[in-house]
Parts: sequence; structure tokens; C-alpha cells
Amino acid sequence: MKVLVVNPVEVRQLLLMNECIPIMEQALMNLGRGEGINPLRPVMFLPEKVGALGMMPAYLGEPPAMGAKIVSVMPKNYGTKYDSHQGVVLLFENEHGSLLAMVDASEITAIRTAAVSAVATRLLARPDASDLAIIGSGVQGASHLEAMLLARPIDRIRIWSKTGSNSQLFSEREGAKFTRHIEVMPSIEAAVDGADIICTTTMAPQPILKGDWLAPGVHINAVGSSIKSTRELDTAAVVKSRLFVDRRESTLNEAGDFLFPKAEGAINDDHIQGELGEILLGQIEGRKTVEEITLFKSLGLGVEDIASAFHIYEKAQQSGTGTWIDWSS
Ligand code: NDP
Repeated sequence: MKVLVVNPVEVRQLLLMNECIPIMEQALMNLGRGEGINPLRPVMFLPEKVGALGMMPAYLGEPPAMGAKIVSVMPKNYGTKYDSHQGVVLLFENEHGSLLAMVDASEITAIRTAAVSAVATRLLARPDASDLAIIGSGVQGASHLEAMLLARPIDRIRIWSKTGSNSQLFSEREGAKFTRHIEVMPSIEAAVDGADIICTTTMAPQPILKGDWLAPGVHINAVGSSIKSTRELDTAAVVKSRLFVDRRESTLNEAGDFLFPKAEGAINDDHIQGELGEILLGQIEGRKTVEEITLFKSLGLGVEDIASAFHIYEKAQQSGTGTWIDWSS
């Protein structure tokens, strides 16, 4: 038996953003139809919560694959040569349960998370949404810029990041990559003023985006907080938004952005309008009016990682990319 190993550089070559977006749509629809299985993820926190190891198993009915992502999250890595999210996606086939591939998880996470936000933006942002604010200049900030350029006809881009020099670097690096002017903003309030699409992609533990700052009709992709003890949005921002999620069960258990306002009594579980998969399947309506504020709370799902890994596995075989290792017993 042979197992395919795919490294970060090869993932970048094989998982293109414009290919990943429809793959994420399929994965979310599978989940919406009840074909996929996506249990809540166990997260093991390190002493004093300096980092964590998350385990994300998932099963896809179609394509026929299952597996698990194991990813370490080390916030202190930002600004060093180490990615803050590192790990591996283990891909198995469904019939005999044999291991097919081991794929770098950092790149899959960077790409698939932004691809899901692109799905949300296509479903929920106004069709003419063109004014983009990115909050956070890290890995997710960069991949969200790429995804938003594919999702809507963007003609203005603003960046804010906690460290001003990182905003400047982001503007220069990503501006050159996409041949776009990216405005560096002095505050979050200035960055989101009148924006049509806001992506929050930070490790902020406390709210950084305030409801008072949101323009009518804006769509928000809230990506940064993936655990119940942190949040990026204040209660007012969540209360005034129509909230859509990747998975209801995950939101009720893992999303600080939802759970803090709920604990304050400002919202209840009915505030969740539905899942992206349900909109894609035509079971629920997305945006209803041009003025309403829509919010996609992203937590990240194992099915997204496994669907990405399966696509990489198939493309790698066609293109002869990756390294096969002998796994015979
Ligand atoms: P990076 O380490 O690459 O970037 C971290 C970013 O957070 C930087 O822009 C940094 O700003 C900013 N930041 C750190 N502390 C604060 C703070 N107190 N206030 C405001 N901004 C802050 O991380 P990633 O881009 O990989 O991940 C960003 C977030 O997204 C993380 O919280 C991560 O857990 C989450 N995530 C969510 C996923 C999902 O599926 N929903 C998937 C992957 C990640 P600066 O550079 O200016 O210092």
C-alpha cells in the first residue's frame, strides 16, 4: 500500500482558490442534506492556554472520503517563521478505511476558510458590494482578500491591523500581488466606515468590531474567533445582524461571537437564521433586503478540510505531484 504526502508548496499548487470555492459549496450542501458527518471537535488546551491542539474528524458521503485534521494553534507564532496553524490532514477512503494521503493543514486551512467566506459572500452580500474592509493582516487576512476579489466586483480595499507596520506590509505585498491599491487605515472604525463587506480575521480575544460602526446593507465574515472564550464582534453588531453560520451545532458550542450575546440575554438560539448549506439547497432565504446587515460566523469544519484534501489527492495523481511512501504491513 502506498500513501501520498503533500507538502505546503504542493498544496498551494493544487488547491486554487477558484477551485476551492465550488468544492466548499458541495461540502456544505452534503452536510445540509445530512450525508456528511461532522462531530464537534475536541480541543486540547496547553497549560495556561498558550496554545491548543484541535482534532477535526469528518466523513463525506460524496466524494467518498473521510479523515481528520489535527492542527496546533499557537498565537505566539505570529511574526516568527512558524505559522500559527500547523498540522496535517489525514485522508482515508470509505470502503476499507485505508489511509490515502497526508496533506499539509496550514495551507488547506488558509485557503478553505477564505473559500467558505467567499461562498457566504456570494450568498449574502449585496450583488453590487464593492467596498471591502479587511481587519487583520495575517494568513487569513491575505487569503480573504484573494477570496473576496473572486466573490464580488471589489473596487475599494481597506486594511487595518493591530500592528501598523503589518498593515503597511500587507498593503505593499498583497497590493503588488493583485495589482490593487490597498488603503492602510488608522482605526477599525475608519476601515469599516461605509464598507459593503467586512472580513474580521484577527486573534483578538475581546470585541474589536462595534455594531455602531456598521453601515446598512453591509455583509460581515467573522472568521477570527473559533472558541467560546473569545469574540471579535460586540453584542450590538450581532444583535443588529441576520446571522448565518457554517454549522448550527458548532455555533451553539464553540462560537464566542454568538455565546457572549446569548449569555447577556441579547439574543437566543433563534437568532441563527440558518446554515450556508441550507441556503445553497434552497431551504432557507439568505439576504432579503438591501438594507439589512448580514453576518456569517465562520468556525471551520472538518468536512471542508477533507473535501479539500480529496481534491488535492485527485489532482496530485493526475499531475504527478507529491511524494508516495510505502505503507505496506
Ligand atoms: P495570523 O497569526 O497569521 O494573524 C493573526 C492576526 O491577528 C494578525 O493580523 C494580528 O495583527 C491580529 N491580532 C493578534 N492579536 C490581536 C488583538 N489583540 N487585536 C487585534 N488583532 C490582533 O493568524 P491567522 O490569520 O492564521 O488566523 C487569524 C484568526 O483566524 C485566528 O484567531 C484563528 O484562530 C482564526 N481562524 C479561523 C478559521 C476558521 O475556520 N474560522 C480558520 C483559521 C484561522 P498584527 O499583525 O497587526 O499584530
